Amino acid sequence: MHNITLIPGDGIGPEITEAMLTAVEATGVKINWERVEAGADVIDKYGTPLPEHVLESIRKNKVAIKGPLTTPIGTGFRSVNVALRRELDLYTCLRPAKSIKGVKSRFDNIDIVIVRENTEDLYAGIERQIDKDTAESIKRITRGASERIAKYAFEYAVKENRKKVTAVTKANICKFSDGLFLEACQKIAQNYPQIDYEERLIDNMCMQLVQKPELYDVLVLPNMYGDIISDLAAGLIGGLGIAPGGNIGDGIALFEPVHGSAPKYKGLYKTNPTALILSAVMMLKYIGETEASERLYKAVADVIGEGKTVTYDLGGSASTLEMGKAIAEKV
Ligand code: NAD
Repeated sequence: MHNITLIPGDGIGPEITEAMLTAVEATGVKINWERVEAGADVIDKYGTPLPEHVLESIRKNKVAIKGPLTTPIGTGFRSVNVALRRELDLYTCLRPAKSIKGVKSRFDNIDIVIVRENTEDLYAGIERQIDKDTAESIKRITRGASERIAKYAFEYAVKENRKKVTAVTKANICKFSDGLFLEACQKIAQNYPQIDYEERLIDNMCMQLVQKPELYDVLVLPNMYGDIISDLAAGLIGGLGIAPGGNIGDGIALFEPVHGSAPKYKGLYKTNPTALILSAVMMLKYIGETEASERLYKAVADVIGEGKTVTYDLGGSASTLEMGKAIAEKV
């Protein structure tokens, strides 16, 4: 029996979570879900969008999966998603972008893994209003965090039989901060002569990914570029509805889709549960349920490949729960 923390999230979170649970339960893996709530909806009850018992639950169980949580734009509380990653030191954001047969997109041969630093950069939230017309944000990059994410990327490449790691920065402009990140990647790369290592500037990387994505394998990036490239990569494989992810620290992990809470679709049961179900595929592999993980992935690929019971974003008319049920039946 695995004890796993479950945060359904808000917006479309609860509905895609329902579909994900149906699909995961079909694998037969015994999971005791510890359901906790976070986000704007719990502020009245607990006085904070991230109650301490949520963090405690994840610290205790060491594994969690979550739906998206809304972050107010401009004003209001800071991102709960970012706080979770920082509080639990989930320093790696791992986001595979892999083509699935049957999904209409410009490319059908994408197999890129994004390794995004998850704890610092502009996400450290060091910003201030200097006067009413001026604001500034500090981009903080440290050698320790950069070396550990570079090491994760190379270790991942070795473990998963990948050929190449590309470090992505803007070190020509941010000479100190991105320069330091790049230096860390160069240092760590020397320990992995069997893995090709190359460097790209973020602007050039965007163009290359749009034109020749098949040339790329594992990408390692500071937090902000990693965030942006994750959505770009999701676009390459056919959209946010099928892009999963995991936030991983030492002996602790929180899985979640790349996408957000898509508030305009809340309660309509229209959106695609695949990104969260594929996040559960990553989670099952992480907890050692490799065979169930592969079975669930194949069920997702089969349902999408058949194209009969898929949601609107994949050209179908199935509801979130119908797609989840179809995947469960394939499992
Ligand atoms: P979003 O990812 O929520 O949605 C953008 C668009 O992508 C949607 O309007 C929809 O067209 C599409 N989309 C997203 N998920 C989909 C799915 N499962 N199936 C089909 N289509 C899907 O991005 P946004 O609108 O910029 O952000 C909304 C909120 O989510 C914000 O408050 C943001 O801060 C938050 N957010 C949270 C997380 C997280 O919880 N980790 C991540 C990103 C954004």
